[in-house]
Amino acid sequence: MGQPQKDPVRLKALYSLLKADQRYAEGAEKLLQAAMAEHKPEQLQEETAVRLYKDVLSGSVTRIEQFEGCPFSHFLRYGLQLKKREEFDIEAMDIGNLYHRSLDLVFRMAASGHREIGEIDDASLMKICDEAVALTTRDYHDRIMESSARSRYIAGRVQKITRRTVWALKQQLLQGGFRTLGTEMPFRYREAQLDLHGVIDRVDCCETEDRVLVKVIDYKSGSTRFDIKLVRNGLQLQLVTYMDMALQLAGSRYPERSKVEPAGMFYYHISDPVIDYKLLNTVEDTEHKRLDALRLEGAVSEDAAAVLHMDKTLPLAPGSVITAKELRGSAVIQSAGACLLSGEGFEELMQSTRERMQEDADRILHGEIRVQPYRSGSKTRCDYCEYHSVCGFGDQLPGFSYRKII
Ligand code: SF4
Repeated sequence: MGQPQKDPVRLKALYSLLKADQRYAEGAEKLLQAAMAEHKPEQLQEETAVRLYKDVLSGSVTRIEQFEGCPFSHFLRYGLQLKKREEFDIEAMDIGNLYHRSLDLVFRMAASGHREIGEIDDASLMKICDEAVALTTRDYHDRIMESSARSRYIAGRVQKITRRTVWALKQQLLQGGFRTLGTEMPFRYREAQLDLHGVIDRVDCCETEDRVLVKVIDYKSGSTRFDIKLVRNGLQLQLVTYMDMALQLAGSRYPERSKVEPAGMFYYHISDPVIDYKLLNTVEDTEHKRLDALRLEGAVSEDAAAVLHMDKTLPLAPGSVITAKELRGSAVIQSAGACLLSGEGFEELMQSTRERMQEDADRILHGEIRVQPYRSGSKTRCDYCEYHSVCGFGDQLPGFSYRKII
């Protein structure tokens, strides 16, 4: 049987019948309203927006990314301050925090002995690692990590993966000539209507004869992948802002150097990749494969000399411009998805990010709250938004649409 045809005359007659019967009248009216509903974009009055947010927007870069991802979700989070009820349980965010704190502590413990992690032998480094994880998990949220068998299991996983991570970070540092300038480095970006605070997971520097090269690394425990399209559309602003701030931090740390330049900005994905041991013959093969799966991902300077300082193993001519094909041989940097930028390219990206953040602050303070999540390929902002039940968004419903990122 095919679909029943919608006959407007019959539908109207049916509606009249239902309306005339007081048992169904109310239900029929609701059905009619639902069928005719159309979403109309709304806007806060400027005065209301300023009372809600104050004259200067404060917070983190993530706040601006949330606005870019969907202005309405920003309004719910920062305007109405809607949050899930807190429960005494461990969530993905807690696990990310545990990794971040443990890794920071490992680097600080090494630095307290005036050493880089690359200068510590593997056995001693793993001891430091275990101690850092134990201290972090013990003190986390009223000892929540000791509260159940599940949380103790998670603490064990955090220890295992932190060990793996520290091992990989050490290998990456050993491949190049960078030294860690600092971990969990705080910064403040104060400009016009914005007052943003943040913490950069790690900044590495390399002093050459004529300049200081800067590399920033953001540890990710989730599934976020670097995507230059999203960067240029304001949906991944963190790394660019971190590089902008890191250049200033490095500039003040090396005042005698006239040139401080970007070498790369990367995500490091905290994970324990599954390796197919059957295909591998030696321990070295396995380690190589594992390191390959844990390579840094992000935007890299196309200046071959800068790349060589991150990965000495590449067969590059120092004065040349590197290509994606040449980068493919790197054991440190992923070539697939890597974005190669010139010095001007980095500068242009930082400048456009600063301008975009100011424009966004302006739009927020003018009351923009439209329900318009972004869509890029099969991914949308709604995929990981906790406000589904509040906004009523549906792209099939009249008046709603995605902001398409092409
Ligand atoms: S579910 Fe989607 S449309 Fe609704 S607030 Fe979240 S991101 Fe916006």
